[in-house]
Amino acid sequence: MHMAIPMLNLRREYEYMRREIDDALKRCLEHQQWIKGKELREFEERSAEYLGVKHTLGVSSGTDALVIALRALALKNEGREYFEPHAEILTTPFTFTATAEAILRAGATPVFIDVDSETFNIRADLMEEYIKTHPMPERIKGTVVVHLFGQSARMDEILDVARRYGLFVVEDTAQAFGGMWKNRKLGTMGDAGCFSFFPSKNLGCFGDGGMVVTNNTELAEYMRILANHGGRDKYMVELLGYNARLDTLQAAVLLVKLGYVDEFNERRRRLASLYTSGLEGLDGVITPVEMPHAFHVYHQYTLRITDGRRDLLREWLKERGVATMVYYPAPLNRLKLFEDRAKTHRGVETAEALSREVLSLPVEPLQEDEETAYITDCIKEFMCHG
Ligand SMILES: *Cc1c(COP(=O)(O)O)cnc(C)c1O
Repeated sequence: MHMAIPMLNLRREYEYMRREIDDALKRCLEHQQWIKGKELREFEERSAEYLGVKHTLGVSSGTDALVIALRALALKNEGREYFEPHAEILTTPFTFTATAEAILRAGATPVFIDVDSETFNIRADLMEEYIKTHPMPERIKGTVVVHLFGQSARMDEILDVARRYGLFVVEDTAQAFGGMWKNRKLGTMGDAGCFSFFPSKNLGCFGDGGMVVTNNTELAEYMRILANHGGRDKYMVELLGYNARLDTLQAAVLLVKLGYVDEFNERRRRLASLYTSGLEGLDGVITPVEMPHAFHVYHQYTLRITDGRRDLLREWLKERGVATMVYYPAPLNRLKLFEDRAKTHRGVETAEALSREVLSLPVEPLQEDEETAYITDCIKEFMCHG
């Protein structure tokens, strides 16, 4: 048997909701309100309701959401447009570049703190260790935590450290729309939450898009100003801002997809449980850990292959038609971009080990059970006889 299974099948998702999407796009073609149209307002309102947060602002990408959130915090907390270069923001090295890139864009220095091997997310105890041993701890302003692959970071511990040392918390929720920690939606527990609607994300639009959310009204006001050229009024500009709005057309697509996000997250969770029950107990394979208080939405289903054969398994699956991805092949501290621009606390051994071990499998909401079973069988065959 041979099947061709891609990581993602966006066409299959489009076919699933084609009528609604086509109608939504047609309505935009009729009303022609391309910028700040009524779909944008409606999407912001509906996602505020869905997430349980006061303020939501559609923006042009997840990266812009992070930059805008951080700069709004510099304005609110420091009274400055950008952080001073020696201001430090703690983050994970095991994430997409944009997380730490945004810290640089906001003027501050990223400090990489290692992750734990279960959630793949930042460790609060190491954050505290870094703060306690810092000669000038007042330089540490906040943290950007990531809910990687749809799994919540350990929010109780993180919020506790943040509260005790007066740090702000930004949640990079680019991979976890609808994910939860103790029944609270990810992105709504810190000072600000940042979402990406890049097409491959678990809530994706038809191009670039993002959203920044907060419960703080002053912060929300700064965010809105920064995303609109730096002015409350279009022609009386006060700050150096961006043209970083979410298009009406993308909001129209997102309004349709928001109606499916719970169903699709449940489908992802079901696929994950099929994989996990099929692969559990296999030597050299560690399946994702679900924490008791977290609602994992499996933006990615990511195995750890601990016998050193990750790349061979990847090749084996490719020969059998199964696409896989390595998120991420190197921790961010290894990137040239951050060489002279970031600090790293101790070694980040877990992030280093994960970058050699992780393998993400196709986990597309409309994937057929036969496809999932085929992938599971191919992995078993390799691990036992390959
Ligand atoms: C995708 C992603 C981003 C950036 O989002 P864009 O919309 O592509 O700019 C930021 N952080 C994480 C963790 C991501 O996965």
